[in-house]
Amino acid sequence: MKVTQAQILQWLQVFADKIEQNKEYLTELDAAIGDADHGINMQRGWKKISSQLPTLVDKDIGSILKTVSMTLISSVGGASGPLYGTWFLRASAAVAGKQELTESDILELLQAGLAGVLQRGKAELGDKTMVDVLSPAVVKFGEVVGEGNNICQALQQAVTVAEHGMKETIPMLARKGRASYLGERSRGHQDPGATSAYFMLQSLLVVVEE
Ligand code: ADP
Ligand code: MG
Ligand code: MG
Repeated sequence: MKVTQAQILQWLQVFADKIEQNKEYLTELDAAIGDADHGINMQRGWKKISSQLPTLVDKDIGSILKTVSMTLISSVGGASGPLYGTWFLRASAAVAGKQELTESDILELLQAGLAGVLQRGKAELGDKTMVDVLSPAVVKFGEVVGEGNNICQALQQAVTVAEHGMKETIPMLARKGRASYLGERSRGHQDPGATSAYFMLQSLLVVVEE
Protein backbone atom coordinates (compact mmCIF):
# COMPACT_ATOMS: atom_id res chain seq x y z
CA MET A 1 0.00 0.00 0.00
CA LYS A 2 1.15 3.52 -0.77
CA VAL A 3 0.10 7.02 0.17
CA THR A 4 0.13 9.26 -2.90
CA GLN A 5 1.10 12.91 -3.26
CA ALA A 6 -2.59 13.72 -3.86
CA GLN A 7 -3.51 12.03 -0.57
CA ILE A 8 -0.88 14.09 1.26
CA LEU A 9 -2.49 17.27 -0.14
CA GLN A 10 -5.89 15.93 0.97
CA TRP A 11 -4.54 15.20 4.45
CA LEU A 12 -3.34 18.79 4.83
CA GLN A 13 -6.73 20.08 3.68
CA VAL A 14 -8.64 17.77 6.03
CA PHE A 15 -6.42 18.84 8.94
CA ALA A 16 -6.82 22.54 8.04
CA ASP A 17 -10.60 22.06 8.03
CA LYS A 18 -10.45 20.19 11.34
CA ILE A 19 -8.52 23.08 12.90
CA GLU A 20 -11.04 25.58 11.51
CA GLN A 21 -13.93 23.55 12.96
CA ASN A 22 -12.20 23.12 16.32
CA LYS A 23 -10.51 26.48 16.81
CA GLU A 24 -12.85 27.48 19.66
CA TYR A 25 -12.46 24.07 21.30
CA LEU A 26 -8.65 24.23 21.14
CA THR A 27 -8.71 27.76 22.50
CA GLU A 28 -11.02 26.70 25.37
CA LEU A 29 -8.59 23.91 26.27
CA ASP A 30 -5.75 26.46 26.25
CA ALA A 31 -7.84 28.91 28.31
CA ALA A 32 -7.88 26.37 31.16
CA ILE A 33 -4.10 25.85 31.41
CA GLY A 34 -2.47 28.38 29.08
CA ASP A 35 -3.21 31.73 27.43
CA ALA A 36 -6.28 30.85 25.35
CA ASP A 37 -4.66 31.12 21.93
CA HIS A 38 -3.87 27.58 20.69
CA GLY A 39 -6.93 27.46 18.42
CA ILE A 40 -6.26 30.97 17.12
CA ASN A 41 -2.55 30.24 16.58
CA MET A 42 -3.21 27.04 14.66
CA GLN A 43 -6.10 28.48 12.67
CA ARG A 44 -3.93 31.40 11.50
CA GLY A 45 -1.31 29.04 10.06
CA TRP A 46 -3.62 26.39 8.67
CA LYS A 47 -5.88 28.90 6.95
CA LYS A 48 -2.79 30.17 5.12
CA ILE A 49 -1.71 26.61 4.27
CA SER A 50 -5.20 25.85 2.98
CA SER A 51 -4.90 28.79 0.57
CA GLN A 52 -1.41 27.65 -0.52
CA LEU A 53 -2.38 24.04 -1.29
CA PRO A 54 -3.59 24.74 -4.88
CA THR A 55 -0.11 26.11 -5.71
CA LEU A 56 1.49 22.84 -4.52
CA VAL A 57 -0.30 20.35 -6.80
CA ASP A 58 2.80 19.79 -8.97
CA LYS A 59 5.28 19.50 -6.09
CA ASP A 60 6.76 16.35 -4.57
CA ILE A 61 5.75 15.36 -1.02
CA GLY A 62 8.97 16.62 0.55
CA SER A 63 8.54 20.07 -1.02
CA ILE A 64 4.88 20.22 0.04
CA LEU A 65 5.70 19.42 3.66
CA LYS A 66 8.58 21.89 3.62
CA THR A 67 6.28 24.69 2.48
CA VAL A 68 3.86 23.77 5.28
CA SER A 69 6.74 23.95 7.75
CA MET A 70 7.81 27.41 6.58
CA THR A 71 4.24 28.73 6.83
CA LEU A 72 3.82 27.31 10.34
CA ILE A 73 7.10 28.79 11.53
CA SER A 74 6.34 32.21 10.05
CA SER A 75 2.67 32.53 10.99
CA VAL A 76 1.62 30.37 13.94
CA GLY A 77 3.70 31.84 16.76
CA GLY A 78 3.62 30.65 20.38
CA ALA A 79 5.26 27.40 21.40
CA SER A 80 3.25 25.37 18.94
CA GLY A 81 4.36 27.25 15.77
CA PRO A 82 8.05 26.34 15.99
CA LEU A 83 7.22 22.84 17.28
CA TYR A 84 4.79 21.95 14.47
CA GLY A 85 7.10 23.79 12.07
CA THR A 86 9.96 21.55 13.16
CA TRP A 87 7.77 18.44 12.92
CA PHE A 88 6.95 19.26 9.28
CA LEU A 89 10.50 20.33 8.46
CA ARG A 90 11.97 17.04 9.69
CA ALA A 91 9.12 15.08 8.14
CA SER A 92 9.78 16.79 4.79
CA ALA A 93 13.49 15.92 4.91
CA ALA A 94 12.63 12.27 5.63
CA VAL A 95 10.61 12.00 2.40
CA ALA A 96 12.51 14.46 0.18
CA GLY A 97 11.72 14.15 -3.54
CA LYS A 98 9.08 11.42 -3.13
CA GLN A 99 5.79 11.24 -5.05
CA GLU A 100 4.35 8.43 -2.93
CA LEU A 101 5.07 6.90 0.47
CA THR A 102 5.43 3.28 1.55
CA GLU A 103 4.96 1.87 5.07
CA SER A 104 8.62 2.50 5.88
CA ASP A 105 8.51 6.03 4.40
CA ILE A 106 5.60 6.92 6.68
CA LEU A 107 7.37 5.39 9.67
CA GLU A 108 10.49 7.45 8.89
CA LEU A 109 8.39 10.59 8.41
CA LEU A 110 6.67 10.10 11.80
CA GLN A 111 9.94 9.24 13.55
CA ALA A 112 11.75 12.26 12.09
CA GLY A 113 8.92 14.63 13.01
CA LEU A 114 8.86 13.36 16.59
CA ALA A 115 12.66 13.54 16.89
CA GLY A 116 12.52 17.19 15.80
CA VAL A 117 9.85 18.06 18.38
CA LEU A 118 11.79 16.28 21.14
CA GLN A 119 15.02 18.02 20.21
CA ARG A 120 13.42 21.44 19.94
CA GLY A 121 11.02 21.31 22.92
CA LYS A 122 12.93 18.96 25.24
CA ALA A 123 9.67 17.50 26.55
CA GLU A 124 9.56 13.93 27.78
CA LEU A 125 6.71 11.45 27.75
CA GLY A 126 4.33 12.35 30.58
CA ASP A 127 5.08 16.11 30.55
CA LYS A 128 1.54 16.86 29.26
CA THR A 129 2.38 18.02 25.73
CA MET A 130 1.87 16.98 22.11
CA VAL A 131 4.67 14.46 22.70
CA ASP A 132 2.19 12.33 24.71
CA VAL A 133 0.26 11.81 21.48
CA LEU A 134 3.03 11.79 18.87
CA SER A 135 5.41 9.44 20.66
CA PRO A 136 3.11 6.45 21.41
CA ALA A 137 1.54 6.80 17.95
CA VAL A 138 4.92 6.46 16.20
CA VAL A 139 5.85 3.44 18.32
CA LYS A 140 2.53 1.75 17.58
CA PHE A 141 2.76 2.51 13.86
CA GLY A 142 6.22 0.91 13.78
CA GLU A 143 5.03 -2.18 15.69
CA VAL A 144 2.01 -2.78 13.47
CA VAL A 145 3.97 -2.25 10.24
CA GLY A 146 6.70 -4.53 11.65
CA GLU A 147 4.10 -7.30 11.95
CA GLY A 148 3.52 -7.03 8.19
CA ASN A 149 0.40 -4.88 8.19
CA ASN A 150 -0.32 -2.05 5.77
CA ILE A 151 -0.39 1.73 6.28
CA CYS A 152 -4.13 1.82 6.89
CA GLN A 153 -4.06 -0.89 9.57
CA ALA A 154 -1.02 0.67 11.24
CA LEU A 155 -2.56 4.15 11.21
CA GLN A 156 -5.83 2.86 12.67
CA GLN A 157 -3.96 1.46 15.66
CA ALA A 158 -1.66 4.49 15.89
CA VAL A 159 -4.67 6.83 16.01
CA THR A 160 -6.33 4.72 18.72
CA VAL A 161 -3.16 4.98 20.80
CA ALA A 162 -2.95 8.72 20.00
CA GLU A 163 -6.47 9.21 21.33
CA HIS A 164 -5.55 7.43 24.56
CA GLY A 165 -2.41 9.55 24.81
CA MET A 166 -4.49 12.70 24.40
CA LYS A 167 -6.90 11.65 27.17
CA GLU A 168 -4.03 10.56 29.39
CA THR A 169 -2.79 14.17 29.44
CA ILE A 170 -5.87 15.11 31.56
CA PRO A 171 -4.53 13.97 34.96
CA MET A 172 -0.92 14.83 34.13
CA LEU A 173 1.11 17.59 35.75
CA ALA A 174 2.41 19.96 33.05
CA ARG A 175 6.18 20.19 33.01
CA LYS A 176 6.71 22.16 29.77
CA GLY A 177 5.31 25.31 28.24
CA ARG A 178 2.90 27.82 29.79
CA ALA A 179 0.78 25.13 31.47
CA SER A 180 3.78 24.27 33.68
CA TYR A 181 3.42 27.70 35.37
CA LEU A 182 0.19 26.39 36.94
CA GLY A 183 1.89 23.51 38.74
CA GLU A 184 -0.66 21.20 40.37
CA ARG A 185 -3.53 23.28 38.95
CA SER A 186 -2.61 22.02 35.48
CA ARG A 187 -4.05 18.62 36.43
CA GLY A 188 -7.59 17.80 35.31
CA HIS A 189 -7.38 19.48 31.90
CA GLN A 190 -6.62 17.99 28.49
CA ASP A 191 -3.54 19.47 26.82
CA PRO A 192 -4.41 21.61 23.77
CA GLY A 193 -1.29 20.67 21.77
CA ALA A 194 -1.90 16.97 22.42
CA THR A 195 -5.41 17.50 21.09
CA SER A 196 -4.30 19.20 17.86
CA ALA A 197 -1.63 16.50 17.37
CA TYR A 198 -4.36 13.86 17.66
CA PHE A 199 -6.39 15.73 15.00
CA MET A 200 -3.32 15.76 12.73
CA LEU A 201 -2.90 11.97 12.86
CA GLN A 202 -6.65 11.33 12.71
CA SER A 203 -6.85 13.49 9.54
CA LEU A 204 -4.24 11.34 7.83
CA LEU A 205 -6.20 8.20 8.74
CA VAL A 206 -9.41 9.69 7.33
CA VAL A 207 -7.71 10.21 3.95
CA VAL A 208 -5.98 6.82 3.89
CA GLU A 209 -9.25 5.03 4.76
CA GLU A 210 -11.18 6.64 1.88
P1 ADP B 1 1.75 29.07 23.73
O1 ADP B 1 1.80 28.12 24.90
O2 ADP B 1 3.06 29.71 23.47
O3 ADP B 1 0.61 30.03 23.84
P2 ADP B 1 0.16 27.35 22.03
O4 ADP B 1 -0.94 27.67 22.96
O5 ADP B 1 -0.12 27.53 20.58
O6 ADP B 1 1.47 28.15 22.42
O7 ADP B 1 0.59 25.82 22.20
C1 ADP B 1 0.59 25.20 23.46
C2 ADP B 1 0.92 23.72 23.29
O8 ADP B 1 2.26 23.55 22.87
C3 ADP B 1 0.79 22.92 24.56
O9 ADP B 1 -0.53 22.47 24.77
C4 ADP B 1 1.76 21.77 24.38
O10 ADP B 1 1.15 20.62 23.78
C5 ADP B 1 2.75 22.31 23.37
N1 ADP B 1 4.05 22.54 23.98
C6 ADP B 1 4.43 23.60 24.73
N2 ADP B 1 5.72 23.48 25.10
C7 ADP B 1 6.16 22.31 24.57
C8 ADP B 1 7.41 21.61 24.57
N3 ADP B 1 8.47 22.10 25.18
N4 ADP B 1 7.48 20.43 23.89
C9 ADP B 1 6.39 19.93 23.26
N5 ADP B 1 5.21 20.54 23.21
C10 ADP B 1 5.09 21.71 23.86
MG1 MG C 1 -1.34 29.25 24.20
MG1 MG D 1 0.48 32.09 23.35
